[in-house]
Amino acid sequence: MACDFCGSESIKQIYKLKDYQFKIPGEFNLVKCNGCNLLYLYPQPNWEILKVHYPTNYDAYQLKPKSAFTIWNHYGLYRRCSIISKYKKGGMLLDVGCATGSFLTTMKNCGEWKLYGVEKSEYAVNLARKKDGINIYQGEIIDAKFPDNYFDVITWWDVLEHVPNPSASLYETYRILKPGGWVFIQTPDPDSWEAHIFGKYWRGFEAPRHLHLFPRPLLIKRLTDFGFNVKFVRSFAGNLSIIFTSLSYFLDSVGYDKLSKGIKSFTNSYFFYILGFPFSLLLRTANLSSSVLYVAQKSSTKYFL
Ligand SMILES: [Zn+2]
Repeated sequence: MACDFCGSESIKQIYKLKDYQFKIPGEFNLVKCNGCNLLYLYPQPNWEILKVHYPTNYDAYQLKPKSAFTIWNHYGLYRRCSIISKYKKGGMLLDVGCATGSFLTTMKNCGEWKLYGVEKSEYAVNLARKKDGINIYQGEIIDAKFPDNYFDVITWWDVLEHVPNPSASLYETYRILKPGGWVFIQTPDPDSWEAHIFGKYWRGFEAPRHLHLFPRPLLIKRLTDFGFNVKFVRSFAGNLSIIFTSLSYFLDSVGYDKLSKGIKSFTNSYFFYILGFPFSLLLRTANLSSSVLYVAQKSSTKYFL
């Protein structure tokens, strides 16, 4: 299997990972491409294997997130809408990996948009289709066959790392964006200090759901190669829960189950979010959080690949 970004077959073993979140059996090799530094699971698990690791209690499928997380979640959705408004106030918008459509629904109150979503999970699609005013295609972006130059904005919120074909998906994103259109990509940075400190327990590795991980300089280069002008790259969600969840995965693996459970329930408490908010803000402002947002614009003139 060759690297999806550069085609090299030369790899270096990094970690053997497990599904620390749902504790479903299985071990997954994380490797790094010697050609371009892309990180990916090798071999890549297919959808038959993967779908078991997307149970109905997967975070992104929850219509009403639990307890204090609800407020945090609304805040996150509000921030996504807010940053888009800085670049574009309305038009055609596609959310790739829209899950149950929470972000699309929030965008209804954030300008004049015609809203589209693409989602692979049948369970999530059925929930999203119950919501008014959003058009959902079940499958991957490359199968949806949208026309050329169709969307003003395409969003990838914590999704690019989940697809088996990021290169083809980014190319498709470029093709269906209008000239001058915007892409917003939020994805974890495997070169962040959080990733280095927690190693294989870092929440951002999230095996086997995260099939590829993109160091910042690599994703900037790839977007530029496709003809995007990369305008903004920064930590976006300074999320303290990434740190605490990574810690709970580590504690679980060394047998401190009770302590790990305690940390997990603490991260769902109001107290945690109130206490953690200034620290999260600091991580984000200092550009130190592992969750990174890339904003890029399709060239307004035709770009030849
Ligand atoms: Zn490569």
